Parts: sequence; C-alpha cells; structure tokens
Amino acid sequence: MHDKGQEEHELREVLLVEDNRIDAQLIRRLLRRVSTSYYRITHVRTLNDAVLSAEELSPHVILADLNLPDSRGTDTVTSLQTAYPDIPLIIVSAWEDEAVSLRSVKAGAQDYLVKGHIDGANLHRVIRYAIERKRTELELVRLAQFDQLTGLPNRTLLRERVNHALARAMRSGSGVATLILDMDRFKEINDMLGHEVGDKLLIKAAKRIRANVRDQDTVARLGGDEFAVVLEGVSEPKEVLPVIERIVDSLREVTTVDGHEVNTSTSIGIAMYPENGNNLSELLRAADLAMYQAKSSGRACYQFFADAMQEEAQSRRALEWALRHAVEANEFQLVYQPQVCLRTGGVIGVEALIRWMHPTRGLLTPYHFIGALEEFGLINEVGEWVLQTACEQMRRWQALELQPMRISVNVSAQQFEDPLLIDKIRSALANTDLSPEFLELELTESCLMSDPAQAGALLREIRDVGVRIAIDDFGTGYSSLTYLNEFPLNVLKIDKSFVQSVESNDRGGPISNMIIGLGQNLGLEVIAEGVETPGQLAYMEEHGCDIAQGYLYAHPESPEDLTPWLMSNQRTSGTYMRSVSMKKIGDGSKS
Ligand code: C2E
Ligand code: CA
Ligand code: CA
Repeated sequence: MHDKGQEEHELREVLLVEDNRIDAQLIRRLLRRVSTSYYRITHVRTLNDAVLSAEELSPHVILADLNLPDSRGTDTVTSLQTAYPDIPLIIVSAWEDEAVSLRSVKAGAQDYLVKGHIDGANLHRVIRYAIERKRTELELVRLAQFDQLTGLPNRTLLRERVNHALARAMRSGSGVATLILDMDRFKEINDMLGHEVGDKLLIKAAKRIRANVRDQDTVARLGGDEFAVVLEGVSEPKEVLPVIERIVDSLREVTTVDGHEVNTSTSIGIAMYPENGNNLSELLRAADLAMYQAKSSGRACYQFFADAMQEEAQSRRALEWALRHAVEANEFQLVYQPQVCLRTGGVIGVEALIRWMHPTRGLLTPYHFIGALEEFGLINEVGEWVLQTACEQMRRWQALELQPMRISVNVSAQQFEDPLLIDKIRSALANTDLSPEFLELELTESCLMSDPAQAGALLREIRDVGVRIAIDDFGTGYSSLTYLNEFPLNVLKIDKSFVQSVESNDRGGPISNMIIGLGQNLGLEVIAEGVETPGQLAYMEEHGCDIAQGYLYAHPESPEDLTPWLMSNQRTSGTYMRSVSMKKIGDGSKS
C-alpha cells in the first residue's frame, strides 16, 4: 500500500517522446498546471533518443506519440516495451488513431490519451494510474515467476529460461546441463527444528547454490527442498563436474541457523541436452531419476542420467502402485510347507510363506516383491497380516486334532526394527487365542547382528512372551558365536545352499556338520531346509540333524491342499513317510 500524501510530493520523472513541437508544449503546460514541482519533463523527438534517454533517466513514466520520425504505430509500443518492460508507457495519439491506440494497450501500453481531449486533471490521473497499474503488473509477474521464500525463479520462469537456453543451444550446437538438487534429510530437520529453521536453511542453500554458478546460469526452486540449476554452453558431462563439486561442497558445510548447527548434504541428478531430452519436462524427468539414483547410492553425491534408469524407474513405479493396491485389496496369500522330525517322522511344524496373487501375472513368489514391500514401507503392514493369518490357520489345524505342531513365520530385518513388532505378536496371539509356544519367528543372522545388543533385548522380550525363535539361512551371514550363545534361541536353520551341496564334494557337507554340531553344543534344534533328494535326507539323518523341510516331502501348499496331506501323514509312521514317494501335490508357487 502506498501513502497518498507522500506521493503528491514525490518528483515524477517523465520522458515525453513527441516529434510535434506544439503537441509537446501543450503537454508540458498541462503538467505544469497540475503542479510545478511534481513532474520533471524530459522531451525527445525520436524513438532512438527515447531509448537512449530512458536508459539514463529511468523515468517513472514514458509519454509517447505513436508516430515518430523513426517508428510508426504499435511498433513504437513494442520497441519501448521490449527495451523497458518495467517502465509504464502512455500513448499520446491523434483522434483518428484510436483503433491503433487500443491495439497499443493490448501490446503493453498502460493507457492512451487522445490529442485535443487532454486536460490537466485527466493527464495527471492517467499518469498516476499507469504507474500504479505497472507496479501491480510487475508484482503479479514476480509472484507468478519467483519463489517467495528464496527469491529464486520458480518452475514457470525456469521453463521460460530453459526454452530460451535450448533455443540458443540449438542455434550454436552446444549443450545444456540440467541439474536437480535435493537436500538429504530436509524433512527430518524441518520436523525436528521447526519450519522457521527449515525456511532459513532453504534460503541459505539457495544463496550457496547461486554463489557457485555463473551469472548467466539459472538457479530455480522447484518446491520443497528441491532446486534446479541450468548450465548453458556445456558440451560434455566432464565440463559440469567442477561446478557440481563446488555446489556439493558448499552445501555440505555446516550452517548455523538460529543458533542450531545444521549439517546437511545434497544429492544431485544431472541430465544433458540433447542426449537425455529435448525439452524441459524430459530433462527434468531424466535429472529426477538420476537424482533418486544418487540418493539410493548413499546420498551426498551426484549421478548423471543413464537410459537404463528410465525403464527401471517406470517398472518400479508400476510395481509400487500395484503393491499398494495389493495391500488394500488383500491380494496376498500364505502357503505352508511342513517340517518333518527325522527321529519320529512326524510333522513338527509348518513354515508360512507368502505369495502374491497378481491380477495379471498370476501367483508370485516373495523374490518378486518382498524387497519392494520393504522399500515402499509396506512390509510392516503386510507382516502383521502374515502373523495374524498364520496364527489363525494354526488354530484351524489345531481344531482338527492333528499331532501338535508349530507355525513358523518369517520376519524380515525391517520388521525386526519395527518398535510395534512385539505388540503385533502379542495381538496376533491374543486375537486368535493361540498359545505362544506354537508360534516360531524366523530371523536372519544379518538382522540380529547389525545391532546385537538391541537385538538381544528384543529377543528376550519375544522369549518372555513365550514365542520360539529360529535363525534362518544360517551360515550365510556373519554370526558371532559369542552373541549366539547369549541370544535366547530355539532353532538354527541350515541354509538350503549348503543342504543342496552335501553330496557334491563342496563346502556344503562340512558346513552342515559344523552347524549341526553347534546346535548340539548350544542345545538348539537344527532344521535342514531345501531338502530335495533322498541323498540329502540320508546325509542329514546320518549327521544327526533334527528336522528336515523341502520339496522331497512337500512343496509349500495352500491350506486346502496341505490339510488332507497333514491328516494322512500325521497318522502314519515316519518310515512310511520316507519310503513311499509323495503323492504329487501342486507346487503352490511359481518362480
Ligand atoms: P526362506 O525363509 O529361506 O524360505 C525358504 C524358501 O525355500 C521358500 O521360498 C521355499 O518355497 C523354498 N523351498 C522350500 N523347499 C525347497 C526345496 O526343496 N528346494 C528349493 N529349491 N526351494 C525350497 P519362497 O517361498 O520363495 O520364499 C523366499 C523367501 O521369502 C523366504 O526364504 C523368506 O526369506 C521370504 N519370505 C517368505 N514369506 C515371507 C513372509 O511372510 N514374510 C517375510 N518377511 N518374508 C517372507
Ligand atoms: Ca524361512
Ligand atoms: Ca532359508
């Protein structure tokens, strides 16, 4: 808002462009009559002189006749507008030019006056409004093109600048590099220290980026903690490297914001014109993919776009969408694989294994989606469903009065870090009314060994609930035997890669023996998983392994298929089970 009183006394610099001396004098007189001290008028006669004087004077307003010795009609408007887009322009023309005057306003003039119809009061008013209108117009342009927080160009202006840059590059045959910068862990800082600190950090980052590029390069804020930098006149990636390294370094320096020492880093993705895209959208998309690649390969680094990223990102995005849908529509199922006691031949347990009934691809094994569930943060939700469903199924089998057996559920590293895991276990048991000793969790070595002290504490909590604990894929990780001894464990599962190579003169035999020995020393059951041949089974029996699981007995099966099998086998002797080849029941999986 501007102060009217003050405005009345402000000196207005007026540039009058008029080749007709009489007309010029008339305007001078009219302006003088309104106020003597208010307007200072500079009078020139040609467009060329107008352009030169405006440069020197920076007038508040230009009053111009349309028809000048060196320019006619709306050309006059266009020339002055192009040279001085920020200075309000008022056209003064003869009555018969009114159509042209209207066109002038469309071409960017703020207003027009018709000769012979001008008096002091309306001249004064027109000038004042022209100045105000220009100010508003400029403000709107600024709002539309610049980011309010950092003052950097926004996406809209970036688009315009890039279009110009690409046009220039096309003419000169040179290249353009488009960078996307994304601060690492900005959200954490914002959440922890508050938005004000976050905002100040963004302002500082904007300044640092700006300070490390040339004046003619564009730095824009795309939103949030994302910035874009456009570097012109680069033909090869290696020419961009020094700039990128300077930016990365400057952003890694510790910043103090409101007394907080903030340590951030930034990941950068780079796309090159013309190699990676022909327009801004394509270049931004390519740079974005490269940036995500940079983030996933450890942050605080940069990555150039490679074509392979395109396909990978597309299929990942499709997978993410499909998985989120799968969680909502409950497209997951559990299949179960029996575990057989080698001493009695009875089934002592079943392992629950997840499958995804994909709407178009059919039944998928975990290999196709467990990693993605983890990556997209869906594993805990799905894991909770697995626990619940497996416990329910066990209750159904218990109702059939089969010999007692337990249910094993796989728990991935991310689930093990879920602070709610213990509650989820408790509720699954409570909801289904299953006794805890019938539930067993399978954890991998790596998930226990990444933070053994914390893992030990959680394992003890699980043990206190009464649930059993198995170490899965044993031998493939890096267990410390000291910890192994301290953890409250029940089972070691020999990884199938060892089981399946006991017959070939490989490490499989010795490692299996070692694990069996270890289990005996620590008082743990040992399960051989992935037993496929009678030879492998014989080896395990001879070396004192307790339990076997594998295709030799049964593939993982749906409850409907497995129940009849359990019912017939749980009533027969172990000898029978091993001597009679299994009735071939469907695989229940598709790998
Ligand atoms: P795992 O826990 O090591 O499971 C054993 C895998 O070996 C299963 O693969 C099983 O179908 C397969 N298998 C069983 N017997 C044989 C055999 O005789 N020969 C061969 N070649 N393979 C056999 P599956 O079902 O594809 O599961 C793969 C992995 O996915 C599992 O490995 C487990 O780590 C994970 N997983 C499965 N279900 C779940 C789940 O509900 N939650 C979590 N977090 N992970 C799961
Ligand atoms: Ca397992
Ligand atoms: Ca395994």
